[in-house]
Amino acid sequence: MSDIKLHPSLDNGLSPAASDFTGGTLQCLCAADKVEVTIAAQTLHNHACGCSKCWKPAGATFAVIAVVPRDAVSVTAHADKLAIVDENAAIQRHACTACHAHMYGRIENKDHAFYGLDFVHTELSPQAGWAAPGFAAFVSSIIETGTPPEQMKGIRTHLRSIGLETYDCLSPDLMDVLATQVAKLKGVAHAK
Ligand SMILES: [Zn+2]
Ligand SMILES: [Zn+2]
Repeated sequence: MSDIKLHPSLDNGLSPAASDFTGGTLQCLCAADKVEVTIAAQTLHNHACGCSKCWKPAGATFAVIAVVPRDAVSVTAHADKLAIVDENAAIQRHACTACHAHMYGRIENKDHAFYGLDFVHTELSPQAGWAAPGFAAFVSSIIETGTPPEQMKGIRTHLRSIGLETYDCLSPDLMDVLATQVAKLKGVAHAK
């Protein structure tokens, strides 16, 4: 078993979702004047992500990120501390300018397959009961941010041992959603 720190939400066993869970708050990592985001829904598609864009806590190899309808997301404290990390990115990640935690990522392009969904890190929440990670995406990308290639086999084995299938893009379900949107924008007709 590799001794690599995947992520605090993965290394200590997955916490199962609470069946009656209807949301909670996220708080940034500042000691005081925390940015607070309120989410009035359970998350969907929670997963580990190895890409270089998702925020991850210090020492973690993967991010853990989920989506939630944007209508369910509101900034409820210290919104003045938030700034967009990269205005040109498809996902505009609103981060705390003091502690750099990403509080929510939002897509403003209405043609994007995931428009209407915000990306959030529920590890920033003091509440328990959020949906557990269900798969690992962009696993090979961790090599690009410093993981030695020879550790990949062990890392993939570790992820599968905690129930997360590993993919080098998104999961098949989500890749299908993306491709469906591409087809729609191109006007491709699918036989029913
Ligand atoms: Zn902060
Ligand atoms: Zn990512």
